[in-house]
Amino acid sequence: MRRGFAVTLIEEGTSPAPLQPSDERWEGNDLQAVFTRGRGIGGSANFWHGGLITLDRSDVEGSASFGTGTKWPMAYADLSRHYEAATALMSGGELDLRQLEDTPSSVEGLALAPDLFRFKPLFFPATPYSPASAIERAIGHGLTLRSGWRARRVRVGANGVATDVVIAHAGTGAEDVVQADAVILAAGGIGSPKLLLQSDLGPAADLRLPIGQRLIDHPTGFVFKARLRRRMDLRALFGVRPSPGLRYRRRYGATLAPSRLAEADGRNHVLYLRPAFSLRSPAGYAALKQRLVAYKGTGLKAADLVRLVAHADMLAEAANFKFGLVTNVRYVAGFVFAEQLDPEANAIEPDGRGGFRVRWSISKPDADSLRRFLGCFTEAHAQLFDRVVTFDGLLGSGAHHSGGCRMGHSHADGVVDGGLRVFGTTNLYVADGSVLGTSGYANTGLTIAALALRCVEAIAGAGSVSDVRAPSPAPVPSFPLATARPVASMTAGGQPEQTR
Ligand SMILES: Cc1cc2nc3c(=O)[nH]c(=O)nc-3n(C[C@H](O)[C@H](O)[C@H](O)COP(=O)(O)OP(=O)(O)OC[C@H]3O[C@@H](n4cnc5c(N)ncnc54)[C@H](O)[C@@H]3O)c2cc1C
Repeated sequence: MRRGFAVTLIEEGTSPAPLQPSDERWEGNDLQAVFTRGRGIGGSANFWHGGLITLDRSDVEGSASFGTGTKWPMAYADLSRHYEAATALMSGGELDLRQLEDTPSSVEGLALAPDLFRFKPLFFPATPYSPASAIERAIGHGLTLRSGWRARRVRVGANGVATDVVIAHAGTGAEDVVQADAVILAAGGIGSPKLLLQSDLGPAADLRLPIGQRLIDHPTGFVFKARLRRRMDLRALFGVRPSPGLRYRRRYGATLAPSRLAEADGRNHVLYLRPAFSLRSPAGYAALKQRLVAYKGTGLKAADLVRLVAHADMLAEAANFKFGLVTNVRYVAGFVFAEQLDPEANAIEPDGRGGFRVRWSISKPDADSLRRFLGCFTEAHAQLFDRVVTFDGLLGSGAHHSGGCRMGHSHADGVVDGGLRVFGTTNLYVADGSVLGTSGYANTGLTIAALALRCVEAIAGAGSVSDVRAPSPAPVPSFPLATARPVASMTAGGQPEQTR
C-alpha cells in the first residue's frame, strides 16, 4: 500500500454465515423472510446473486410529482461518477456503466407494451465480486482485520469528534477499544442504525436524528403465474449470455416508463418474467429457498431434504432460471421487487431491555400501488396470457434493508449528509445500505459500493478513488484510502474499501 491510511476492519462474523442477531425482535409484519442477511467478511455479499444494476435519476433526484421527502442531497451525476468505478470493480472490469444504463424498449422482438413499460437489465458478471478475497489481499498492506469482534458503540466527544469504538469479542465478551481519526460504519441496513442508537453521539444526540426511522426494503416474491396463449421462447429475457463472445449474463425486468409512474403512485416496481412448468403456487417453497441460499453457512437438515422432494417442480423452475436450460415454455411466473416509499410506521427502536424492536411491513399505499402495477402489466399483456393466477401473501424481504440512517439535506430529514457524514459530527460516517432513503426498483449492492467510494473520496480528498479503476501492476493492491494524512479508520464489515 502507498503511504496513507491505516485501516482497522471490525467484523463480528469469523466466516460466512446467515446473520440472525438474538437482540432483534421483528414484529407487526407479514413479510419477514427467514434469512436476509449474512455475516463474515463481505456480509450479505457472501450470499448474494451478484446482480449489478443502477438506480434511475428519478430515484435520486425525485420527480416533480412524487419528489417530496425522497430527493437525495446530491445530483445523480455525483452518484453516477462513482457507479463507473464501482461497476468496474464489481465486474472485474467486464462491464462498464453505459451497458448498465442501457434500457431498450424491446428485447429481441419482444415488445412488452413499450408505451407503458420499459426493460431494465440486471447484469451478472462471470466472476462475481468477492469482498473477502479483496480484503485478504489488503491485509498486511495497511489493513488490520479484527474478525470475531463486535462493535458495541462509537464514542463522540463534546466537540463532535468521534474518538474511538468500543468492541467486544464474540466468544469471550472481553472488551477492547479501537481509537480512530475517522470511523466508518458499514454494519448494514439494520446493523448501523442499531450501532448508532447504542453510541454516545455527543452534541449530535441533541439533534434528535431520525436514526432507525422510516425503514424501507424491496418487498419481493412471486406474485403470479400465467399460461401463455402459445409457447414462447423467452430466452432473451433472462439470465443468458447476450452473445457467445461475452462472459456476463443479463436479465431483463419490466418497469413502468417514467412518464407512466402515476399508474403506481410514483412507485417504481420491477417485474421479472421467469419460465415456469405449471401454474402451481410457490407457497411453501419460499422458506425452503431461503434455507438453500443459507446452506453455505448452515448445512441442510433432513427435513429440508424432504421438502426438497415435495417442491421438486419449483426447484426445477429455479434451476432452470439460474442456468437457462429450457427457454421455450407455455408458463411463466412473475417475480416482483416492489418499491416502498416513506413508510412512517417502519422503524427500528431500542426495546428498553438492551435489545431492539424492528417494525417492517408493507403499507396500504405500497400494497395498492403494487396491485395497480400488476394490474397494468397483466391487462396490457392480455394478448400474451390465456390464464393468470395471482398469489397473495408471498412477499418477503428483498434483503435490501435501507432508510435507517438515510441521507438528508439536514438533521431534520436525515442521519447523514451527502458525504455520508453523521450530522453533528466531524468524522463519523455511514457507508452501507442504511443511508439509502429511496432504493427504486433495483438491487442495491452496486449503489452501496458506489456510495462507499463516494464516502472514501469525501474523507480522502477529491480524485483519489479514481486509482481503483486501474488494475494494480503488482499483487499488492492500490488501496483507495491513500492520501498524505495518516488516519486510522474503522469499519464494521459490509462492503468496505474495494481493492482489486
Ligand atoms: C440471498 C441474497 C441475494 C442477494 N442478491 C443481490 C444481488 O444479486 N444484487 C444486489 O445488488 N444485492 C443483492 N443482495 C443484497 C446485498 O447483498 C445487500 O444489499 C448488501 O450486501 C448490503 O450491504 P451492507 O454493507 O449494507 O450490509 P451487509 O452486507 O449486510 O454487511 C453488514 C456486515 O456488518 C457486520 N456487522 C453487523 N453489525 C456489526 C457490529 N455491531 N460489529 C461488527 N460487525 C457487524 C455483519 O456481520 C455484516 O458482515 C442479496 C442479498 C441476499 C441475502
